[in-house]
Amino acid sequence: MQKIAMVDLKGQYQKIKPQVDAALAGVIENTAFINGPEVKNFQADFEKYLGIKHVIPCANGTDALQIAMMALGLQPGDEVITASFTYVATAEVIALLQLTPVLVEVDAQTFTISPAAIEAAITPKTKAIVPVHLYGQCAPMEAIMEIAKKHNLFVIEDTAQAIGADYKFANGTTQKAGTIGTIGCTSFFPSKNLGCYGDGGAIFTHDDTLAAKLRMMANHGQGKQYYHDEIGCNSRLDSLQAAVLRIKLPHLDSYAAARNQAATYYDKAFANNTKIQTPVRAPWSTHVFHQYTLQLNGVNRDGLREYLASKEIPAMIYYPVAVHQQKAYRSSRYPDGHFPLTEALTQCVISLPMHTELTQEQLAYITQHVLAYINQ
Ligand SMILES: *Cc1c(COP(=O)(O)O)cnc(C)c1O
Repeated sequence: MQKIAMVDLKGQYQKIKPQVDAALAGVIENTAFINGPEVKNFQADFEKYLGIKHVIPCANGTDALQIAMMALGLQPGDEVITASFTYVATAEVIALLQLTPVLVEVDAQTFTISPAAIEAAITPKTKAIVPVHLYGQCAPMEAIMEIAKKHNLFVIEDTAQAIGADYKFANGTTQKAGTIGTIGCTSFFPSKNLGCYGDGGAIFTHDDTLAAKLRMMANHGQGKQYYHDEIGCNSRLDSLQAAVLRIKLPHLDSYAAARNQAATYYDKAFANNTKIQTPVRAPWSTHVFHQYTLQLNGVNRDGLREYLASKEIPAMIYYPVAVHQQKAYRSSRYPDGHFPLTEALTQCVISLPMHTELTQEQLAYITQHVLAYINQ
C-alpha cells in the first residue's frame, strides 16, 4: 500500500503531468511571467465556472481578504464580524487594517458562523460580516444575507476551503460558494481543493464598480499607469500558477466527487459509534470536503493521533486554538469560556487524511485503525 498522505499532491499531479508540464514550459518559453495570457485566460475560465462577472486574481487568500476590505473603504475602528473558529488569516487582515475584529460563536453541527451570534454582535460600528465556509461547506448564507440587508452590512465570503461548493437557496436555486456576498475571496494554496504549485488567490464580485476598485487596490492603487489614486498593495497571481490552475479547474468537480467518495467511506465506517460524530451535512450546501473532521466524544485525542502516527496515518487538528484564545488576539472582551462551543471544538476535532487520491485500501486501513483505538 502506498504511504498515506494528509494531502497527496504528487499522485494528483501524476494524472495531469503531461498537460501541466506543457503549460509550464509554455509560460517559460513566452516569458510573460507576470500578467501573461495564462492569467487572463484562467480569470475568464474561473468567471465562467463560478457564474460570476468578475474574478480578480491575486497573490494569496490572505491578500484577497485584505484587498476586499480595502476596496470596501472600511475605516479604522469599523467593526467586522467573523467566527473565532477559523484560520487566523480571516481575523488577521481585519486587525492589520486597524478595523476591529468582532469574533463570534459557530454552530456546533456545521462548524460555520452562527447567524444568531452575528445578529447579537451587531453595533452601530459594524460594517461587514466575514462568513468562513469552513472545511468545505457553506455557512448559512441566506440567513446571513438577510441580516446584512437589514443592517446595511457588507458580506465578504471566505471561500478558501469551499471552492466549488454549491449553496442551495430555499427556493431551490443554487449559486457557487463565494458568489453570494458582496465579495468572495479564495486561496489557491497547494493543499486547497483548487491548489496551484505555490501561492495564489482570487477575489470575486458581480459589481462592476467594485471590481475596478479591487483591481486597482491589488495594483498599487493605480488607475492609469504610474498614477496612484489610492494607497493600494502589490498582489498578483503569477503566470506559472495561473497555467497550473487552468489545467486543474476542469477537474475541480471530479476532485470534489473523489473527496465525497472518501467521506462517504469514512461516514459508513464510523456510523453509529457514540464516540465519533461524523461531519454533519448542512441542508443548504453541498460539501466539497476540504477537510474530513470528526468530533471525538470521550476519546483521548492526543492518544489517537499518536496511535495513528505509529501506523503511519497522519491526522491534523484544525484548529487547536480558536482566534480569541491566540496570544495575539486575546482581549478582555473574550475571556476563556466566552465561546463554549468553539472552545469545545478546539478540544475535540480531528481531521483525517482527505484528498483526491485515497484508495479503498488506504481508507480501509485508516478506518480500521481509528476504530481499533477508539473501541479498545
Ligand atoms: C487558507 C486559508 C486562508 C488563507 O489563504 P493563503 O492563500 O494561505 O493566504 C484564509 N482563510 C481560510 C479559511 C483558509 O483556509
